[in-house]
Amino acid sequence: MLEVTRLYAGYGASEVLHDVSFAVAAGTFCALIGANGAGKSTIMKAVAGTLRPVRGSICFEGQDISRSSAARIVAGGIALVPEGRHIFGPLTVHENLQMGAFTKLRPRVFQSADRSIEQRLAFVLSMFPRLEERLSQLAGTLSGGEQQMLAIGRALMSQPRLLLLDEPSMGLAPVIVQQVFAALTRLREHRVTILVSEQNASVTLAHADVGHVIESGEIVLSGSAAELHDNDRVREAYLGICADTADIAELDRSRA
Ligand code: ATP
Repeated sequence: MLEVTRLYAGYGASEVLHDVSFAVAAGTFCALIGANGAGKSTIMKAVAGTLRPVRGSICFEGQDISRSSAARIVAGGIALVPEGRHIFGPLTVHENLQMGAFTKLRPRVFQSADRSIEQRLAFVLSMFPRLEERLSQLAGTLSGGEQQMLAIGRALMSQPRLLLLDEPSMGLAPVIVQQVFAALTRLREHRVTILVSEQNASVTLAHADVGHVIESGEIVLSGSAAELHDNDRVREAYLGICADTADIAELDRSRA
């Protein structure tokens, strides 16, 4: 579905991504794992069209979108849930969701598709029933977890086939993070392909099918989520499990 090939991107003279290549198959949950500043958001922005790559290609369903505008990319079936959520605080939950259905390049959506917007809304509310209870509440007064659900719901209102989520766990309590990832897993059952960037490798690898580890703007490791979870480098750097600790835990288990 998505094929990123030899991508270079950055900000002004500063090159952040160096020769990044990876693919996301339709119907899968793919994870980009990396520490602060590794370049995860930069990849997301390049795919979503808010950052123009310097070199390389980004193909979505066979079409090169690396030079397309963000508006065209949303209309074409990709939606980004940005880091920090960026919901419209002074608008209600309902208004935020309606905004997600408005795409500049598809005015038909608003002319003929009130019903269609209602159907999308019904789908979003079935995914996140908490939002239904709060439709008339100002978005800025929601809890962090509710805001994340709203940001995902708003993105779903454009009916994406590929949903990008940049650090959805940021600032959320572990129990809410679990709820958000459980919702993402349910989305996959509705044929939405998922690409998540995260520092929280533990919860991400527990839900993803495949993953790529990014360090200093390069992909240094790729594999199934299970392979990455068992990889010593990932365990030490991202899961906080060093070989010695694992041995001690194993010893404790066998003693018990
Ligand atoms: P985090 O988890 O902290 O969000 P990240 O992996 O998403 O990290 P990026 O946001 O892609 O990392 O940043 C990669 C590098 O690009 C960092 O060194 C950062 O300082 C730099 N960078 C990001 N945005 C800009 C910008 N608008 N202008 C200049 N440099 C930037």
